[in-house]
Amino acid sequence: MTTAATEHPLVRDVLDTLEKRDPNQPEFHQAVGEVLDSLGPVLDRHPEYPAANIVKRILEPERALQFRVPWQDDAGAVHVSRGFRIEFNSALGPYKGGLRFHPSVNMSILKFLAFEQIFKNALTGLPIGGGKGGSDFDPRGKSASEVMRFCQSFMTELYRHIGPDTDVPAGDIGVGGREIGYMFGQYKRITNTFTGVLTGRGQDWGGSELRPEATGYGAVYFAAEMLAVNGGSLEGMDCLVSGSGNVAQFTCRKLIELGARPITLSDSAGWIHDPEGITEEKLQFVMDLKNVRRGRIAEYCEHFSSATWSPAPASGKANALWALPAQAAFPSATQNEINGDDAAAMVAGGVTVVSEGANMPTTPQAQQVLVDGGVLLGPAKAANAGGVAVSALEMAQASQRVPWTAEQVDEHLKSIMRRIHSDCLEAAQTYGFGSDYRHGANIAGFKKVAGAMLDHGLV
Ligand code: NDP
Repeated sequence: MTTAATEHPLVRDVLDTLEKRDPNQPEFHQAVGEVLDSLGPVLDRHPEYPAANIVKRILEPERALQFRVPWQDDAGAVHVSRGFRIEFNSALGPYKGGLRFHPSVNMSILKFLAFEQIFKNALTGLPIGGGKGGSDFDPRGKSASEVMRFCQSFMTELYRHIGPDTDVPAGDIGVGGREIGYMFGQYKRITNTFTGVLTGRGQDWGGSELRPEATGYGAVYFAAEMLAVNGGSLEGMDCLVSGSGNVAQFTCRKLIELGARPITLSDSAGWIHDPEGITEEKLQFVMDLKNVRRGRIAEYCEHFSSATWSPAPASGKANALWALPAQAAFPSATQNEINGDDAAAMVAGGVTVVSEGANMPTTPQAQQVLVDGGVLLGPAKAANAGGVAVSALEMAQASQRVPWTAEQVDEHLKSIMRRIHSDCLEAAQTYGFGSDYRHGANIAGFKKVAGAMLDHGLV
């Protein structure tokens, strides 16, 4: 990506080197380009960062692990998946970030996610570094015992690299409460310890209240904050939501609670449009469909005649979901799901606020179209930080061995999202980016991590 800001000589040099050293990592380049795009004025004002070569250092993971995960299916056939853990930056605390199980998983995608995670975690103000991991294992269509055997094999290698004060993984796409349970069980068995080594645990065995809800709720709180600054609210808004997994489900629940109307959901096969709105009762159906029966979102239309289903567009093509008339959008499926055409359709359709529940769901071109169209854009590293924030609160509860109530956790979550919002706005304004939350999030996150790296010396 090249913009005026990435033309800063130091930034340009770093990007060129990165593209040469890691030529097959487009998602990683994209994520790095987006962060560096904000840093020109910061580097000019803080010569101590270039003097310590902080930018180059921050782009290099402290450790990137790749390992073999052999497992057997129910018919006895042997398969080999790839396991990964990127321990990217521990300047602020133990590595923290989810595990993703999806066939698209590779080094580029995990490095982009781990890199984003560094700044997201910094924004929470909690003591957590950045990491990410996962596997190209595809849980779709696998039996529960196949998933269990896979998780046990994955943890049989991963356990030696993680620990409650070292690296604390959580869930992501394809890794929910069930998978966390299988991996926690295997870790406990191998190490003979019961610790807070994974977050997103079941509530009877160390999990925090509201952890499943936190990312979706947080993304809605962030949208509400952006609107409030401009004298608006979500009440009465029609909202486009993509995905139908963890983040999408709890985004819908909070929107319904606040008097907004989610009207779409999607999965990898297609998307549904329910112009009458997705109610709490319909959401219960979706939760059973996706979390228990693990079916396709198309089934929604067999039960609710107000809805229609459309197939997913070919990769990189415009998705008509984003062209529906609505006032708010919550992309909650996967990276690069909104391209420039989608963004133009959203502006034309009346969208005024976008809060990114998914990681990097909008391409750089799409982001520019949205910002130029006057849309309030909450970037992922700020808007979806609620999940990792409550994960850090789960770590705190595990250390104290005292669970907090849902009300306590929700109060913390709300105040963390409020503070992230104000920190982003303040950083954007201080460095001449007006109210562009993208730059504000990058700068506020970067400064915290860079400051800690300077304090720690050359390590
Ligand atoms: P889930 O696995 O629960 O749900 C993912 C949803 O996205 C599913 O509906 C899935 O469809 C769909 N999806 C996944 N990949 C694709 C694809 N390539 N094309 C189209 N649809 C796709 O994951 P989460 O809800 O946890 O995660 C969603 C997003 O939010 C991800 O970007 C994740 O990184 C991000 N995120 C999650 C956090 C969390 O706490 N869980 C925290 C912060 C960010 P299908 O059912 O067909 O697989």
